[in-house]
Amino acid sequence: MARLTPPAIVILGPGALATARRIQTRYAGCQVHALQGRVEADVSYTELGAHLCDLYARGTPIVALCAAGIVIRCVAPLLSNKGVEPPVLAVAEDGSAVVPLLGGLAGVNVMAREIAAALAVSPAITTSGELRFGTCVLNPPDGYALADIAQGKRFVSDLLAGESTRIEGEAPWLDAAQLPRSDSARLAIRVTPRAWDGRDDELVIHPRSVVAAVTVPGARVGAGAGASGSGSASAGAGSPSATNADHGANSSSDSQTGSGARVAALVREALDAHGLAPLSLAALLAPSEHMADPALADAAASLNVPLRFAQPRPEDGEPPSNLLHAALRVPYQTLHDDANARVALALAALAIDPDTIGRTRGRLTVIGLGPGSADLMVPAARTALNEATDILGYETYVKMAGPLRADQHVHGTDNREEMQRAHHAFELASTGRSVVMVSSGDPGVFAMAAAVLEALEEGGSKNADWRAVQLAIVPGVSAAMATAAQAGAPLGHDFCMLSLSDNLKPWTIIEKRLRHAAEADLVMAFYNPISRARPWQLDKALDIVREYRAAATKVVLGRDIGRPGSTLRTITLGELRSSDVDMRTMVIVGSSTTRGFANGIDGGEWVYTPRWYE
Ligand code: SAH
Repeated sequence: MARLTPPAIVILGPGALATARRIQTRYAGCQVHALQGRVEADVSYTELGAHLCDLYARGTPIVALCAAGIVIRCVAPLLSNKGVEPPVLAVAEDGSAVVPLLGGLAGVNVMAREIAAALAVSPAITTSGELRFGTCVLNPPDGYALADIAQGKRFVSDLLAGESTRIEGEAPWLDAAQLPRSDSARLAIRVTPRAWDGRDDELVIHPRSVVAAVTVPGARVGAGAGASGSGSASAGAGSPSATNADHGANSSSDSQTGSGARVAALVREALDAHGLAPLSLAALLAPSEHMADPALADAAASLNVPLRFAQPRPEDGEPPSNLLHAALRVPYQTLHDDANARVALALAALAIDPDTIGRTRGRLTVIGLGPGSADLMVPAARTALNEATDILGYETYVKMAGPLRADQHVHGTDNREEMQRAHHAFELASTGRSVVMVSSGDPGVFAMAAAVLEALEEGGSKNADWRAVQLAIVPGVSAAMATAAQAGAPLGHDFCMLSLSDNLKPWTIIEKRLRHAAEADLVMAFYNPISRARPWQLDKALDIVREYRAAATKVVLGRDIGRPGSTLRTITLGELRSSDVDMRTMVIVGSSTTRGFANGIDGGEWVYTPRWYE
């Protein structure tokens, strides 16, 4: 079922931290956001109003440990905009009060009850329907969707005015509610996949009990039909066979852009033909061999349902209903449309959990964590981590990526064999998992992204499952950028990044590059400058650079930048000794124009390389 975005717990000072941590234990993957300079937590922000607005606009649930009035004033400018309204709650710093403010339809009262339970207080619930009936009738559980909110509000005010209601269909979550029920009531709560017909004495709730199986329009459909059972005349048990039209014949325009919209339109037409509501759709199902087809992803996004895949066997019958037979684990009825032979619908008696249907397209996202602190990680990397089922990488980095949820599998390893790790990532992702591979800094700078692509180029030619994995690389703030920013702007003009490690390249190449870079007067950022296994290389490298650069050349040393105990030093090339440097240090050697001046703050200096040349 859909997982909710974990809430952001927002605090202003140290007095709220203990309460924040108690709430945090209740929500997997959630973080405490703290005002910079006042208190340290997982994420820091500089201005409360702007930060709350940003979270709200992204649809992130907000638990703010401050006065309700402050929260209201901060998000007020956004309230008139219709659209997502995430749950917003104010909680007293000492945990003595929990006040749901916004997001009634997004489950704010449920959260208020959860948080209040964690803090052992009563939530300040003010929603009259909820107080009277003990549940929010307009907020059905996962797997169900309210047909029409305006109608729902009218319906609840009728109930509050004293009317009673019948319940038609299966609504197990209402069993515990204190609803005024009567079999002869004028009003009815109807739980049905059928489209609402506009009657205002009914509150219609759709169970997501329909799955639409599609063969992909376009040239490759014929291949799908053949692969899944050419010659097999037997229809799947319980699934009447589809009219086996020539799917490829008149669909040349489908393979062009917009084919996602066409697939979605075909599904909507099929639902309509059977009187089913689009909100009853639980998932879109397609043949595994079309996993990488962007039209399918577009169609699922347009229908606002998860996309699942199946690989039918010959005994599953004819496409597209063979997909249903192969993927569904609950009893269902197949609905066909002779006019629309590319879509088959399965209708089950109850809501179907999309996680139980066929399989999903696996994902592998290679992310960079930035140098260390959470605020230097790009939001796309955080999103990938939140969505991950599996996380791979060096143990230190996996720890830096946390906090992770208990349901996320960590494959931390000290194994230095990067290719093995890349293979492991593809193996996991090709079974449908959402895998995140973590690197520090930027994943493309002396890190895992290149290893992953190398593995794919080699292994993918033999392995269609690997090629079907949805691969993405999310950039990060590299150590050179993070160090440069602290020092000023030493990379303000042409520069190069060099790894001084001769593990994967001959030392002669490194020497040659050093000479050329030094001669070209490029600023140089040295990664992997030294290690116990490579003790002499840095001195040799510096000897080469000193042949071309003056002893007064600026050198910036950043160690553990963005991590606890970070240090930043500016010295000169003449002063630099290899003993000043270790494997956690970034060495930036300036060019002939790199300069510095006193920063007037802490006796340090700003170092920069001007944008111009003499
Ligand atoms: N992908 C990483 C680099 C990995 S190579 C990135 O883009 O930053 C590892 C080298 O990066 C280390 O030997 C060190 O030179 C440098 N480095 C990584 N993190 C650092 C940090 N937080 N502070 C200073 N240097 C760092």
